[in-house]
Amino acid sequence: MTILLPTSTAGSLPKPSWLAEPEKLWSPWKLQNEELIDGKKDALSLALFDQLRAGIDIVSDGEQTRQHFVTTFIEHLSGVDFEKREVVKIRNRYEASVPTVVGAVERQKPVFVEDARFLRQLTNKPIKWALPGPMTMIDTLYDAHYKSREKLAWEFAKILNQEAKELEAAGVDIIQFDEPAFNVFFDEVNDWGIAALERAIEGLKCETAVHICYGYGIKANTDWKQTLGSEWRQYEEAFPKLQTSNIDIVSLECHNSRVPMDLLELIRGKKVMVGAIDVATNNIETPEEVADTLRKALQFVDADKLYPSTNCGMTPLSRKVATGKLNALSAGADIIRRELSGK
Ligand SMILES: [Zn+2]
Repeated sequence: MTILLPTSTAGSLPKPSWLAEPEKLWSPWKLQNEELIDGKKDALSLALFDQLRAGIDIVSDGEQTRQHFVTTFIEHLSGVDFEKREVVKIRNRYEASVPTVVGAVERQKPVFVEDARFLRQLTNKPIKWALPGPMTMIDTLYDAHYKSREKLAWEFAKILNQEAKELEAAGVDIIQFDEPAFNVFFDEVNDWGIAALERAIEGLKCETAVHICYGYGIKANTDWKQTLGSEWRQYEEAFPKLQTSNIDIVSLECHNSRVPMDLLELIRGKKVMVGAIDVATNNIETPEEVADTLRKALQFVDADKLYPSTNCGMTPLSRKVATGKLNALSAGADIIRRELSGK
């Protein structure tokens, strides 16, 4: 990256109200068939435009073509029965009715590759593409076939690798795997979670990232955060193994969080996407507040490895709030760029 402190988002942006009901997770589509296909493309173009207008350096599709960051990918796989549902506890936190794995999981055809090609032709900016991570995928399913979380994660890692290779060929510069589950299942992360992630990035030449957060700003997550005490040290569990892994970039929640910033020392050498925008509030950060978080992170991340970002996806927010937050992120990064260059 030639620019210092390149900005990006963790992934999702709100959808236009004509495509899906805003401020809602798993919001159903308002269009159908051909209209839906065209509508998703238009929304993707708008999401790109919003990022460009805000001066975001590494752009994404804003996840406009997916209903949910995990479910939509799984919907494209065989071996999962969406009619057969079981209630499970997601990330040990909240109950949800999820589909069942009934046979061998396979990717019959590419999931997001067409969308990535479309985004690629709209911009020359670096593109980041988010995929769910293997551990977070298995946590959003009931497994009646493999009966082993590790085995199923390994199968998903192989499938994600196929998709990632085709996204790379479509011109994606950074492929990001979303692993909020890494903040919950510490033993599994160290036993096989990071190994599965490395299987997913095997053979890729583009940059790779893992996004680990405390979740969207929904009630189940904010309630959970209230129970975590004054210091959130969850990252400490996965960092040592991540530091020695092949992953290039680690994307983290840092703003308004109780994560002690010095934990970042444990991944020194990795590029860090520092979350400097809180996605769990409608308050729009001031550029100075963003700059303050980045300044704190700079104590533990070398300037050439610091990528200002958002704590998590912004899909549950209104477009107006999300746009305000994109602008704040850019302006905050700019303050620090000027400080670093002594101007
Ligand atoms: Zn997140």
